[in-house]
Amino acid sequence: MPRFCANCGIDESSGVPIIDNLCLDCYVKLREVVRIPHSVDIPSCRKCGAILIEGKWLYPANSDEAFDIIKRYIASTVKPHDDVVVKDLDVEMIPPDFSRVHIHADLLIKGRYSYNYEHDIEVKWVKQLCPVCFRRASRGYDAVVQLRFIHMDENVEIFKDTIESMFQDQLIEVEEVDNGFDFKVASPGIAKKIATIVKKYWKTVKIVESYGDVKRAKDGSRKAKLYISVKVLNLRVGDYVVIDGKAYIIEKVEEKNIVVVDSSGNTSIIDVDYLLNRYEGFRSKRR
Ligand SMILES: [Zn+2]
Ligand SMILES: [Zn+2]
Repeated sequence: MPRFCANCGIDESSGVPIIDNLCLDCYVKLREVVRIPHSVDIPSCRKCGAILIEGKWLYPANSDEAFDIIKRYIASTVKPHDDVVVKDLDVEMIPPDFSRVHIHADLLIKGRYSYNYEHDIEVKWVKQLCPVCFRRASRGYDAVVQLRFIHMDENVEIFKDTIESMFQDQLIEVEEVDNGFDFKVASPGIAKKIATIVKKYWKTVKIVESYGDVKRAKDGSRKAKLYISVKVLNLRVGDYVVIDGKAYIIEKVEEKNIVVVDSSGNTSIIDVDYLLNRYEGFRSKRR
């Protein structure tokens, strides 16, 4: 007597094997060949994009890296039954809002039967604040480093990234402004540290400290924010500068001085300290 599927009634044939009285499709449907969630919650930080995976906050550098982490996590939730082997597993995040992932798995059932398994999982993005952003949001800033440059070049970007990773916890906010940025930091000590690092990095730096934003604290004492103005003279050959009312073109930039030429073609060497004191008199132009 030919065998048939106890669930759907289809007869056994070369393309339709019967396993435990069921055809392959019904076997997969009725027996739990793989345990897989219908939905997963992914808590993510609404400020910085960090994601919480298995109780741990992760800080991917970009969305591709975040998706890779999420795909790996979702792949790890796919648990095959004892007599099932997952030969290949593919997890695809579905745009535009990535609230769904598609799973494709090549299964081998009971060591003999291959099966293409497809499954969709809903992704619930749970927006919250990561611990770092929470700490930042709950705390005000007590000092500001106002960093200004003549040239916003790649070194400036590298420097900004360096500061951001060095002072992750103490940097409350970075505000982009014309020709630089303001680092709002948790304490005056951190602001001073950053100013010192700037000076080491560029050397041609003018630093002015002042206090502002005076507020009266609960205990009656007065509290002011420290403002450190840091002007970086990252000059280049070809810049047009005005020193003591006279115009020059920069010919050479060295560590302790610059070589300039005036309109009549006379060159002179100007000390960096002297230059820094005349900073306000500069105008800069690229050749
Ligand atoms: Zn069947
Ligand atoms: Zn965050």
